[in-house]
Amino acid sequence: MDIGNKEMPDIPLHDKAGIIWMDGNTVPTEAAQIHILTHSLHYATCVFEGIRVYDGNPFALKEHFKRLHESARQLNYSLLYSVDELCSAALDLLKSNNISDGYIRPISWLGSESLGLQADGLSIHTAIAVWDWPQVYALNSAASGISVHLSDIRRPSPKSIPPQAKASASYLVGSLAYHSARRNNCQDSLLLDEKGFLAEGSSANVFLVFDNSLHTPIADRCLNGITRQLVIQIARSLGVKVIERRIAVKEIINAEEIFLTGTAVEVLPVSRVDQHAIPIGPVSKNLQEAYGKLARENKPALNLTLFSSCY
Ligand code: PMP
Repeated sequence: MDIGNKEMPDIPLHDKAGIIWMDGNTVPTEAAQIHILTHSLHYATCVFEGIRVYDGNPFALKEHFKRLHESARQLNYSLLYSVDELCSAALDLLKSNNISDGYIRPISWLGSESLGLQADGLSIHTAIAVWDWPQVYALNSAASGISVHLSDIRRPSPKSIPPQAKASASYLVGSLAYHSARRNNCQDSLLLDEKGFLAEGSSANVFLVFDNSLHTPIADRCLNGITRQLVIQIARSLGVKVIERRIAVKEIINAEEIFLTGTAVEVLPVSRVDQHAIPIGPVSKNLQEAYGKLARENKPALNLTLFSSCY
């Protein structure tokens, strides 16, 4: 069965002609390099973001850069550029790389002055790369949904890796879970938290529908995604009840609908959990349409309250 492999880019990203912003300067893609002794490469202390660009307009740009700052703060370092400076660097980069529908990848990391767990005094770096929007799943997945595997890989305790830090360290877990899905003939994974309750996807949040209401894990053991927050607000504005709670494993396959949310996948229905078919229903479809419209209109009229304004 073709389960719709995520696509590899036609040209490797590091070979694409273009410009990358690094610590205040723009450099050709091939010159955007770091030293092999970079602390963050060894100890997973990078923080990063993923931002969608629709028709030249980045969606929720400021919120993503606020989260980048917040992620770094949770890993005990402070970025050297303000949110506004990073936003304007990203906007310039989109123009110079001629990106219309694309993706922005900001990343911050600690330098190579010394190696050891003691990270004080290391240089703090930030880069921003942009590229054309890659196809995440097969073209019709937004309508037909994707299959997910309930992975044995669990999210770590929030006392191990802070779940609100979008840190490279967390993506080892996501990547292992993603690969466990492929081995189980599914397109992506759902992960449980360390207590055995549903947490999120490998790189997306998850919602279940019961009795026309949305049920989603409390965001204290998963990333409180920007899309998650927006979808909750959209749902409430449409009169759909939203309940944040602990969701037991046995409830998952009895859901009337399931969907994932994230910057990349937007609102993506789940059509199968391992061998159990899940219907794609009106709640997912309505929210998919409403979120898609909001993102493309590029004026998030809804307020995201979770990021402080001090950056
Ligand atoms: N959870 C994880 C683990 C993620 O990587 C992502 C993608 N950033 C999300 C949830 C969704 O977050 P957002 O809606 O902010 O993209």
